[in-house]
Formats: sequence, C-alpha cells, structure tokens
Amino acid sequence: KLEKWPEYFVKNDLKHIEFENPCKVDGKLNEKISIFEGDITILEIDAIVNAANNSLLGGGGVDGAIHRAAGKLLLEECETLNGCQTGDAKITAGYNLPAKYVIHTVGPIGEKPDLLKKSYNKCLDLARENNFRTIAFPCISTGVYGYPHESAADTVLNEVRKYLEEHHESFDLIIFCLFMENSKKCYKNYLCKYFPIF
Ligand code: ADP
Repeated sequence: KLEKWPEYFVKNDLKHIEFENPCKVDGKLNEKISIFEGDITILEIDAIVNAANNSLLGGGGVDGAIHRAAGKLLLEECETLNGCQTGDAKITAGYNLPAKYVIHTVGPIGEKPDLLKKSYNKCLDLARENNFRTIAFPCISTGVYGYPHESAADTVLNEVRKYLEEHHESFDLIIFCLFMENSKKCYKNYLCKYFPIF
C-alpha cells in the first residue's frame, strides 16, 4: 500500500515552458514530478536523458533528435566513451542544447523490467552524483526498442517514486517527456497512482 506522498515539493522555477501536471487534487500540485509533452531537446534544465544504443554513436528517434540539436561536438565526445552497456548510463556535455548535460542510457530491447529500472536508477544516480537538480526522461525503450507503453509507464513511475522516497532532497524536478499519444495516456494514469496528493 502506498503511503501518503509527503509535502516536500519545491516550486517549479523553470522558465519558458508550461508544464502540465495531471495530479491536481484539491487545487494542490505535486511539484517535484512533472510531465512535458513535446520535444525533449528544447528543455532548459540541468540534464536531459538520451535513450541511446550500445554504441553511443547516434541513432534514430530521440537519440537522433538530441544529436541534431546538440551538434557534432556531442558525437565527438561520445566517441571517447567506448559505448555503454544496456542498463548503464554515461554523461556528456549538452553543447548546443539548452540543457547543460546529456545522460546517455541504453534501455532494454523488449519488455525487460529489471533492465529498464536499472537504466532509470543509473541516470538518477549520475544526476545526484553531479548535483543536477532538474532532469528530464524520454520514454526509454518504448520506440524502436519495443517496450509496451503501458507496462513501461507502470514500471518506471513505481521505480522513480521509490527512488524519490530515498533521495527527494537531491532533486527539484523530475520531468517525464512524453512524445507519443500512447505514452501520454499511460503516464496520466500511472502518475495519479504513484504520485497521488491527498
Ligand atoms: P528506444 O530505442 O529506446 O525505443 P526511441 O528513440 O526509438 O528509443 O524511442 C524512445 C521514446 O522517445 C519513444 O517514446 C519516442 O516517442 C520518444 N521520442 C522520439 N523523439 C523524441 C523527442 N524529440 N523528444 C522526446 N521524446 C522523443
């Protein structure tokens, strides 16, 4: 059973972007968790997460969008990293992106919850170690890698909630960046399950 979500949320002080938070109850906002509908490359925050592949040398989907927006210096830095294991994560600078850093992680191919959890946990660990206060995640593995949206949203939000219970002082804002209609529907459901406000 979920305990009451404690009231330690800080103000969302991000400029330029309107965040939508579906968990409004009695006019209160759960302000440490937010969803953003659109392109992750426009977010002006400490770090955006890239759903990369093992080579870290670019690809399609969100990976392609991040490399295009960051410019070729991102690829040059990625070339020095010797790739990345599935479930692991590595940091680079953001270059031309408005985000200061990119955390590249490699999610599983197909529905493998342990590896998906590992990716999210590893990104959050790296963010904490580097004192990043704001981080945005795309829906890792739900594109070309074929993880079903519904079970990904359930697994991810459950895991991030558990993580925040341990480490809530470390973050001001964790953003779930939703790009596809499917993800939006699923996240709206599961946000209200894992981040309720009573
Ligand atoms: P994976 O190989 O991990 O499945 P994809 O890039 O194919 O990675 O898809 C991961 C998720 O990123 C999908 O939900 C897709 O809709 C989403 N996505 C694609 N482009 C963007 C973007 N520019 N900003 C945010 N999310 C995006």
